Amino acid sequence: MLKCSILTKREERHVKETRSSTVGRTRTRTIGVEARHFDKAYEELYIQQRVYDMGLELWPVLANFPREQRFILAQSMRETYNHIRRLIFRANKKYTKKDLLRELDVEIGAFKTDLRWANDLGYLKDPQFDRLSEHIVEVGKMVGGWLKAEKAEVLDEEGKEYKCSKCNAVITKRINDYSTKYHGQPLCYACQKLVPKKK
Ligand SMILES: [Zn+2]
Repeated sequence: MLKCSILTKREERHVKETRSSTVGRTRTRTIGVEARHFDKAYEELYIQQRVYDMGLELWPVLANFPREQRFILAQSMRETYNHIRRLIFRANKKYTKKDLLRELDVEIGAFKTDLRWANDLGYLKDPQFDRLSEHIVEVGKMVGGWLKAEKAEVLDEEGKEYKCSKCNAVITKRINDYSTKYHGQPLCYACQKLVPKKK
């Protein structure tokens, strides 16, 4: 899987070890409790490596586009790719990823459309489209998984936000579960101080 690696030796080992222990099990399930079992560090390294590998495939392909398309379609794909790469990097660094993930989702969609367009116009040779598709689909799935996991943090099973029963502020599932257990009702941090704990 790792051709030309951007990771350090230690990170590579971590990716390999974690991969062999999660293949087919937790990787595709992203909702609820399962999401917490994700190895976050692994996910982050893996998606970065995926995007890097995609770039390695993409650059020579774009250089061989017909001359008149080099500055239009190829340029658009290059820019979208760079944007995706930067967004992934930023999303990995950020605690709340929601806005970045939405942006990523849009960029990934745009890239897929350009890729199909380039293929239908005959600018891609046979295995190129499949390989690039595989990369972008995988990246898209992981971003989708992150989005679902983020939603599971703030929405209950009916898709409604968790709210403080005193001041109506939106709270996360974790705070909801904690306050319900110890205070007998869903409360934000501020209101938890006003309501005594259950004995
Ligand atoms: Zn409150």
